[in-house]
Amino acid sequence: MPNKTNDELINEVIASYPYYLKAGRIIEKRITDVMKKVDRALFIPSTVVIDGKSCQQDPYVNKPVGIDFRQTCSQPSMVAFMTDYLDLKPGLNVLEIGTGCGYSAAVTERLVHPRGRLTTIEIIEGLAEQGKKNVLSANSDLKERNIEFVVGNGFKGYKPNASYDRIYLTAGIGPDFNEDIFKEQLKEGGILIYPETAGYLYVFTLHNNHFIRQSFYGVAFVPLRRI
Ligand code: SAH
Repeated sequence: MPNKTNDELINEVIASYPYYLKAGRIIEKRITDVMKKVDRALFIPSTVVIDGKSCQQDPYVNKPVGIDFRQTCSQPSMVAFMTDYLDLKPGLNVLEIGTGCGYSAAVTERLVHPRGRLTTIEIIEGLAEQGKKNVLSANSDLKERNIEFVVGNGFKGYKPNASYDRIYLTAGIGPDFNEDIFKEQLKEGGILIYPETAGYLYVFTLHNNHFIRQSFYGVAFVPLRRI
């Protein structure tokens, strides 16, 4: 049985935020209010088989948690951080690469609501189905739904719904990755965020076809698949 509630988990995120990746600022209330509405337990199976062993999972810990298909549900502090630096607002057109269990997608959908649009792409078909089901149920109270779930490879983004105000990757890039492939899918002034599998998280803002980069150290992510 979990020791905490979702509200207590998010209160922990709020308290630790200024120190997380040296964010050095307080997390906006509108973000944590949304995170309190998105119950993380809806995204994480209560037991998961890891290396042949059945393990009980506690959704209310501020850590990445294992889910099916050997993937993870992002750490709530990381979702808060990416969401904060993405500066998500109602009406924005957003692309997420790596739906996974759908936890970050549910938070994003609420922050761009109403009028906004989220396209989220996942390469593992079974997980894409689970993610879709989870987001649709977690956000079933929203009056207007404008979210598209795509099964496929997002290594080069997703052109059909471009151009985007925001693009973010929830899987880690390797050394051969070049952010320039996202330039043509991002609007002027748009923000792109992606992590390395281990190391830095990068935040880019597009101005006059040039990226202005900020970096934050100390992240670990499952790898972004090329094929
Ligand atoms: N957003 C999720 C985290 C997902 S973990 C959350 O909130 O918990 C990263 C996901 O990226 C995994 O599900 C993985 O299968 C997916 N992924 C990896 N490479 C990909 C690719 N090239 N295109 C789309 N999805 C990819």
